[in-house]
Amino acid sequence: MTVPLHPCVRAYVGLGANLGEPVAALQAALCGLAATPGVEAVRASSFYRSAPVDAGGPWYVNAVAELDTTLTAPALLATLQALEQAAGRERPYRNAPRTLDLDLLLYGNARIDSPRLTVPHPRLWTRAFVLHPLHELAPERVSARALAAVADQAIERCDPPA
Ligand code: AMP
Repeated sequence: MTVPLHPCVRAYVGLGANLGEPVAALQAALCGLAATPGVEAVRASSFYRSAPVDAGGPWYVNAVAELDTTLTAPALLATLQALEQAAGRERPYRNAPRTLDLDLLLYGNARIDSPRLTVPHPRLWTRAFVLHPLHELAPERVSARALAAVADQAIERCDPPA
């Protein structure tokens, strides 16, 4: 029996952390993504610092990763959640500070609305810390109007990761 191959899809993943060593956590997550079977051509945006939205705690370090994958969207989400667990992620309450948060932002042009997965990510268009790094990697997917809509949110670019 031959197993049908899933077509290769370009996906975008949001990365954020504001506890522990955020830059190291993001770099480890990018390495983890690149080492995942079925994930290729991982490309990272610059790193950014952003004030927490709807929450207290230290500023976040954020980035977006572009990748090509033969994983299905639920399988990619499971990979992201395993990487969060490996980074010691705990969920004591909503919007709690976190050692690593990984969100599936876009999966090709798919629209998914299931109990466990919503794509495009429901808060993608309201967050400067997602839109700026996403615009850096895929300017055709983020309009000037979308960036203008989040212009009031504090965000600054950090030095590019080594
Ligand atoms: P969070 O606490 O922000 O990491 O949210 C994780 C929860 O959001 C999990 O239960 C996921 O199943 C759900 N979820 C729904 N859509 C997405 C998405 N596009 N990316 C990541 N998590 C998602």
